[in-house]
Amino acid sequence: MSLSQHKFQQKLLEFIEVCNDGYAILSADDKMLGCNQAFAGIFYQDQRKIQGLSFEQLMRLSFSEGKGIRFEIETIDEWLAQVQQKRRQNPFQLFEVNLTDDRWFLMSEQILPTGEMLIQAKEITKQKVLEHQLHSKVLTLSELALTDELTKVANRRCFVDSVEAELARCQRVDKPAALLLLDLDFFKSVNDSYGHQAGDEVLKATANRIKKALREYDIFGRIGGEEFAVFLTETDLATALHVAERIRGMLADFPVKAGRVELCVTTSIGIALTQGESNFEELYLQADSALYMAKRNGRNRAELFRLLDE
Ligand code: GH3
Ligand code: MG
Ligand code: MG
Repeated sequence: MSLSQHKFQQKLLEFIEVCNDGYAILSADDKMLGCNQAFAGIFYQDQRKIQGLSFEQLMRLSFSEGKGIRFEIETIDEWLAQVQQKRRQNPFQLFEVNLTDDRWFLMSEQILPTGEMLIQAKEITKQKVLEHQLHSKVLTLSELALTDELTKVANRRCFVDSVEAELARCQRVDKPAALLLLDLDFFKSVNDSYGHQAGDEVLKATANRIKKALREYDIFGRIGGEEFAVFLTETDLATALHVAERIRGMLADFPVKAGRVELCVTTSIGIALTQGESNFEELYLQADSALYMAKRNGRNRAELFRLLDE
């Protein structure tokens, strides 16, 4: 059995009256012609009380009672001025609204050629909560993907990506830069003497100390077990040597705390300076070979990579 058009419209009205979605009709001069209880409920008002109010009056009521829209602005006049600029610009508008009771609604405004407006409000609180949770998960995951868990500095992947971008920039502006590879000396014996946990503490303290020795725009990361790397942007040879020496001294001359013990760790450093079109892999190999020399020449020292004919 099908309904006549008239009966269908009657039924529709019955449904609208009891459904959870809010419905309201405004006149061409923005006065409330009528709404269902769900719509009035957004403002914690009775249907009859808001009948006849203009849009502006309803918003002022909501603002003064702190019920309904979360305005997040100092004065209602300011809010109204902003909103009136955008209102009724298009025959159809869709936007999200956050309420003072933490609910969220998806609002649609449909304007008839006569100027009358149908507002439909659908609650989307659950979706917004999920969206928020998902967003913070994505943030945590991307942070995890870029940060070394133990020392909280950039991990290898993050370091390499940042350096590749910065290296390209240095080359564009024709400025030198330097890569420093650091490998802590005899670190195995730290673990052997004090335990792995103390070794971890030393790594954390060492990372913090190196970070403090650097400029804000230098790039620093942990690239392996007890290996760190520093990229000194827009840096010449003299500065690179100076920074390397500063890091070496800061570690060698001041013991770090690992639980109850204090111990001195030293580091060997390999330095490579960019030359023209050097790419990251080349620079890394050069710094690594200089690091090998620093180890061979006695550790607790920095060596610069030099080409044989230099
Ligand atoms: P060298 O001066 O030649 O570099 O000697 P080394 O003992 O530092 O070198 P080696 O590469 O033989 O050993 C590095 C040690 O670092 C081995 C490993 O136990 C330790 N290590 C690597 N990653 C970690 C870590 O995350 N925590 C701790 N506690 N130790 C680590
Ligand atoms: Mg090592
Ligand atoms: Mg080592």
